[in-house]
Amino acid sequence: MKKSIIILCGLCLQTFVLFSQTVEKLEKYHFKPFQTPISLEVADKRADSILALMSLDEKIEMIGGHNSFFTKGFEKYHIPAFYFSDATQGVHIRKNLDSSTQKSTAFPCPLALTATWNPALAFNYAKSIGEECRANNVAVLLGPGLNIYRISQNGRNFEFFGEDPFLAARMVESYVVGMQSTGTITTMKHFLGNNTDFHRRRTNSVIDERTIHEIYLPAFKAGVDAGAMSVMTSYNQVNGEWAGQSDYVINQLLKKELGFKGFVMTDWWSVYDPEKVIKSGQDLEMPGAGNPGDPQFKEIGDIYVRTNAARLIKEGKVSEADVTRMAKTMMRAFIAMGMYDRPVKDAAYLQKYPEHEKAALQTAREGIVLLRNDGKLLPLSGNRKKNILVVGQYVENIARGLGSAEVMGYNNINMIDALRAEFGPTVTYAQHPTDEQLKTAGFVVVSIGTSDSEGWDKPFDLPAESNALVERVANLNKNMVVVVSAGGGLNMTDWNTKVPAIIYAWYAGQNGYTALAEILSGKTNPSGKLPISIEKKFEDSPGAGYIPAGMKLYTGWQGDYIAPKIPVFDINYKEGILVGYRWYETKKIEPLYPFGFGLSYTTFEYSKLKLSSPEINKGDGLTVEFELKNTGIRTGAEVTQLYIKSMNSTVNRPVKELKAFAKTELKPGESQRVTLQLKSNDFAYWDVESHGWVVEPGIYNLLIGAASNDIKLTGKVIIK
Ligand code: BGC
Repeated sequence: MKKSIIILCGLCLQTFVLFSQTVEKLEKYHFKPFQTPISLEVADKRADSILALMSLDEKIEMIGGHNSFFTKGFEKYHIPAFYFSDATQGVHIRKNLDSSTQKSTAFPCPLALTATWNPALAFNYAKSIGEECRANNVAVLLGPGLNIYRISQNGRNFEFFGEDPFLAARMVESYVVGMQSTGTITTMKHFLGNNTDFHRRRTNSVIDERTIHEIYLPAFKAGVDAGAMSVMTSYNQVNGEWAGQSDYVINQLLKKELGFKGFVMTDWWSVYDPEKVIKSGQDLEMPGAGNPGDPQFKEIGDIYVRTNAARLIKEGKVSEADVTRMAKTMMRAFIAMGMYDRPVKDAAYLQKYPEHEKAALQTAREGIVLLRNDGKLLPLSGNRKKNILVVGQYVENIARGLGSAEVMGYNNINMIDALRAEFGPTVTYAQHPTDEQLKTAGFVVVSIGTSDSEGWDKPFDLPAESNALVERVANLNKNMVVVVSAGGGLNMTDWNTKVPAIIYAWYAGQNGYTALAEILSGKTNPSGKLPISIEKKFEDSPGAGYIPAGMKLYTGWQGDYIAPKIPVFDINYKEGILVGYRWYETKKIEPLYPFGFGLSYTTFEYSKLKLSSPEINKGDGLTVEFELKNTGIRTGAEVTQLYIKSMNSTVNRPVKELKAFAKTELKPGESQRVTLQLKSNDFAYWDVESHGWVVEPGIYNLLIGAASNDIKLTGKVIIK
């Protein structure tokens, strides 16, 4: 009796602790588009009045970057020079460019953020980074990056928001508002079809119209509607033209169709024909000039807008009005954000860093995904807590994504220190563990992963040593977990069923291994779910075969732009709209771990599905409600997912399409009604005849579940 009271109290205590830190619930958070402090109309007029005073040469100075990351300032017109900084996961401090920069928090990578399925957290994450921009004199953040996860080998997947356009859209819109609420401009990048970094300046993404609209545009559209003030075009060609000088990409898709009113910039050295750049709707060429002294830039010649605009006007190929339009679009955005009227830098934000550290930690807590937990090995209890041995990579160094997105962070907590802080000083690290050490340890943490980077793709397969280490440990000690620090899916097929527990930690940021330690101890109940499918082998995936015959993956920067020795090659988006789970489910290929999947230390029951109506008219929405109950003994949060399946469409539709989700935290035994809203457009597909969205009448199945392959409740609605 006494013992059970003690156990019960222990549970109560744990429940209380868990309740206070499982899910970020920003008080009263609900998404609301961003409004600029000064209206675009007023800003437009003010930009006109300044431009009326400027000479052509001065205007031309405005349409290209300066000193790598700055725009041109003119004291006489009270126009400041603005500093642009990478990246989505925090401020990349480049000391040589701005001496005022001090420090920045390294957040979990955006893919980890997406694994939280918590838009309130995306808001807080971006708001924190926006405040660090203000602290560091950064006017424009070069993020969020939101290229869809099409190829697991893409070296930049960690910087983006996963494979599903709907999930990415919901996270991105909250990101945009969170960031811009601090007075910092967000830049959605890379527009469009930049889904690999393999010879990124030599690829032509061949994508059909429907696929562009259903898969690659929605997250950008959501960001435009949320009020994003800047967009960066991509390195690749889209259907035969470089994105940064493509009238179709910029004028037609981005500005006309999506209604984007902010300014567009090129990616760094990504355009080749100044006349086309000016006519395409592009507003700002970055960085605006070649690298002086770099012989490779001599080879490509003078192709920059700033140095060619006057000549092109003289030759009648472009007009002064084109240049004015470019300068004006950019000025309008800065004026509307209030940036001509207040300093960018506000050192008061340095006081908020402790809050940012908390936001980073909370993101890791909710974004780390528990993939496997045989026999409820985790959370650790009894002897397993006592003699923990850590082996493998990223134990003393923190795994992080590299390239322009890299953020070094401060007060970094590596894995070994995080585990010692949680479990005490008996946690040991062995770089070259003996069999004896592995056998006798109470518990073994095997840390593996990859350090991905911009500039190249990486193999889906793990290095042989990592696989060998996992198998060796699994053979010697059944009390073990594999922790994967990675920027995307990796091949775990060979040992997946040989190990009892797997945790996907992504790049968890400067204090993310603290969240990992809390998950191991049970202080935090994992609630992350995969924003990607992890295939069994790369050949199973929709993007397989993208590397042309005779070419190989490489690591290390390749000067593709500067010395374009490789002819441009096509990346055929041959799977069309069947990206991610849409592909695996439609083709009946089982992935190793499906989209939307993630385990918890508690269990949930779904029941009592109710629709607002069994039939709706075209143009109407639908409310879907059901009851969710925590049937376990720990507080936990569940991400419930609603997919639709069109039953009698006249066109091919995927087997499933995510159209709503919610994250709900419940105490043991607690139930809650979960309400999900479907809008009329959630039933639509892109029709290539009318070039618009079409909702077909007919039956739509509604699939509600805990993962794309784990449907708990099914209903249907008829659209008349
Ligand atoms: C990357 C961009 C980045 C830019 C500036 C490019 O190499 O593709 O994402 O914003 O550099 O650092």
